[in-house]
Amino acid sequence: MTKANDSKPFQRLYAEITNICNWHCSFCPKSPRKFEEMPLERFKKLVVLARPLFEEMTFHVLGEPLLHSRFPDLLKCLEQEEMKLFLVTNGSQITKYQDELLNFSFLKQINFSLHGLTEREQEIDKRLKEVFSFCQKLSSQKPEVYINLRLWNLNKDENSKDLQQKVLSLIEKTFGVSLNPNVEIRLGKGKRIKDRIYLHQDTPFHWPSLDDKYLGNQIHCYGFHTQMAVLSDGAVVPCCLDYLGVNKLGSFEEIFPKLVELKQDASQVLNNSSLCQRCTFSRQRVKGESQ
Ligand code: SF4
Ligand code: SF4
Repeated sequence: MTKANDSKPFQRLYAEITNICNWHCSFCPKSPRKFEEMPLERFKKLVVLARPLFEEMTFHVLGEPLLHSRFPDLLKCLEQEEMKLFLVTNGSQITKYQDELLNFSFLKQINFSLHGLTEREQEIDKRLKEVFSFCQKLSSQKPEVYINLRLWNLNKDENSKDLQQKVLSLIEKTFGVSLNPNVEIRLGKGKRIKDRIYLHQDTPFHWPSLDDKYLGNQIHCYGFHTQMAVLSDGAVVPCCLDYLGVNKLGSFEEIFPKLVELKQDASQVLNNSSLCQRCTFSRQRVKGESQ
């Protein structure tokens, strides 16, 4: 994550346009929140209010964004307000919306979270082919867009090793490259495949939880300082890891008009948060989203 620049007070808004997902990965945190998508009209308001405050928007907290029933209309709203999009998806619906995404002028980056495929053995080949075919089209039509293929399942189990191998060999075949199969996490987790297409391998992500060990109340984090999240019910939370809504600040309609003022109390909000007090990212800093 980069720091907010001079022109906007915040770098990134994580908008959970839906918390519904078609996959049920065992490593995905379970939330007691109601399953819902943000209605189009409310999303329009969100983009208008967010535009002067944030450099870019990411569709992510929980849920699969391409399942939103009005997904093409959401892209139109972003286009209208000239808001850049950083999309995080499991890739299962990519063929359905590939034309819309290829024609969308404000796509900055797309991350495919492929690790869920370890639990969907029957679909692996089909899904990878669809995702890689889209990547090839996107890379040739919009070479400026970054594409990140995420495999956050290192050291997990035999299925994970199989998926790692399948992904690596299909990448090599599809893109005509040869990849080093070894991953030295300490030396960097990203491998450049071609142009702006990268493979990112890592161990499974740990979402912060209220059951985790207390780590202290001096929080140093980008949450609320350069990024915020809005949950599918419209509630503002300081970061994309607060999938439970522990630190709900109010609805975006109520909070965004005074967000710059509220930002002055950001450290206090985080220091007093029972979730932040248990979150290891308070020390590592949030570098990206986490699907
Ligand atoms: S980890 Fe991602 S793909 Fe898996 S259930 Fe959660 S939101 Fe869906
Ligand atoms: S400390 Fe963790 S939960 Fe708190 S804002 Fe930062 S990333 Fe989010």
